[in-house]
Amino acid sequence: MSGTVLVVNSGSSSIKYQLLDPDSGDVVASGLLERIGEPSGHLRHTVDGEKHERDLPQVDHTAGLSAVLAAFDELGPALADAGIRAVGHRVVQGGAEFSGPVALDDDAVSRIDALSPLAPLHNPGNVAGIRVARELLPDVPHVAVFDTAFFADLPEAAATYALEKETAKKYAIKRYGAHGTSHQFVSDAVSTMLGRDDLRQIVLHLGNGASASAVVGGRAVDTSMGLTPLEGLVMGTRTGDMDPAVVFHLRRVGGLGVDEIDDLLNKRSGLKGLTGHNDMREVRELAGAGDADARLALDVYGHRLRKYVGSYAAVMGGLDAVTFTAGVGENDALIRAEVLAPLGFLGIELDDAANTARSSEPRVISAPGSAVTVLVVPTNEELAIARHTIEVSGA
Ligand code: AMP
Repeated sequence: MSGTVLVVNSGSSSIKYQLLDPDSGDVVASGLLERIGEPSGHLRHTVDGEKHERDLPQVDHTAGLSAVLAAFDELGPALADAGIRAVGHRVVQGGAEFSGPVALDDDAVSRIDALSPLAPLHNPGNVAGIRVARELLPDVPHVAVFDTAFFADLPEAAATYALEKETAKKYAIKRYGAHGTSHQFVSDAVSTMLGRDDLRQIVLHLGNGASASAVVGGRAVDTSMGLTPLEGLVMGTRTGDMDPAVVFHLRRVGGLGVDEIDDLLNKRSGLKGLTGHNDMREVRELAGAGDADARLALDVYGHRLRKYVGSYAAVMGGLDAVTFTAGVGENDALIRAEVLAPLGFLGIELDDAANTARSSEPRVISAPGSAVTVLVVPTNEELAIARHTIEVSGA
């Protein structure tokens, strides 16, 4: 084995991790620690295809990550034998400071922490995980890989809000995007699959969070997430695009506080807000049983997606490839068909059999004569983070 990278995605209430070989992509072990800060925590550690579950007493990030490292020693692979070359940390917001992955020292951690006001729901949890991991694993390099980095050089026309410019500058308000590690990984894979580096492509990352990107010749020229991951597509629990005046209305007429509105728009809206369920499988099941709210939610979801595909084709002055990725994008053939069926005028023609065939491999699902190639490419953010981590740390 060429050694491994431990990839850590530390959120406010959970720590997701994967130990993998950055060359082959083989996953040695993975897991999820949940319910940080709640009365009891829960850890799931998977090794050799076997899941081990355990309840924990109340944990903070330090106790949580200590429990994860203890699980390695107890359930395998023991840390001393795991060949860990480096630790890669997912960080949501890199602001204007970080346009690529960075080796972590105390100064870099402070600078990431200082960006927390731009991503109050994400960066504090990321930073807490980084601090603890550097303490508990002090002998290997740690690297931060930013969700925003792939979009750091968006054209100004795409990155700028038409907000009074002094105010925007003072508060660093612009479109930073997110999910960039996935959009870069998938668009690179499409380029390789189609053997072209001049593609005008759209990547639709449809998971619990969802975002679209327009990529020309490997460079992102637009993306749907903005200052925060709230903008853009309809998501599991987020509204996506909405008139900002809804916020004033909720404040003035509804009397809601800012934190309440933040919670409403980020955690209680989207598919969940429309149907009570954030999981697309449950929404589909309800719609299949004739539930009108679920049908409307699917229509809103598909309508928004189709608008983005059309607008990005216009932004790029043409379109060569559309790719679906992440939980919904990789698995829900109906959404793919519903979104793209009316877009024959753009040269998009799906192959129904290819679209509905079950596979976990990257694949083309457009008809042979389709002017635009449509693909499904499973994303692998952990592998992308592991590879960036090795590149930057030289470990
Ligand atoms: P991710 O954030 O990429 O892990 O994706 C999570 C989302 O993928 C959840 O909303 C799941 O409902 C959705 N998902 C997973 N499998 C399927 C499936 N077979 N059909 C529709 N959605 C799915």
